[in-house]
Amino acid sequence: MTIESLPDFTKPARQRWASIPAAIRERLLSNVWCGKCRHAVTITNFSGTIRGGNLLLLGECAECHGTVARVIEHS
Ligand SMILES: [Zn+2]
Repeated sequence: MTIESLPDFTKPARQRWASIPAAIRERLLSNVWCGKCRHAVTITNFSGTIRGGNLLLLGECAECHGTVARVIEHS
């Protein structure tokens, strides 16, 4: 996945996301807790915004298609 293929990211969120190494980004996307599945899942169709100084990814669980979110704290 390339940075350019993220149309639903705000500009600051895109810049924050781009600053994370690709290998870590992949790990973050494939390790999102789903409250319905009760285990870590892959997030799909996600958007990105900055909330409270952290990057918030909001998307769908790859397995049950429920809403899942991941906050990536600013290091
Ligand atoms: Zn799920």
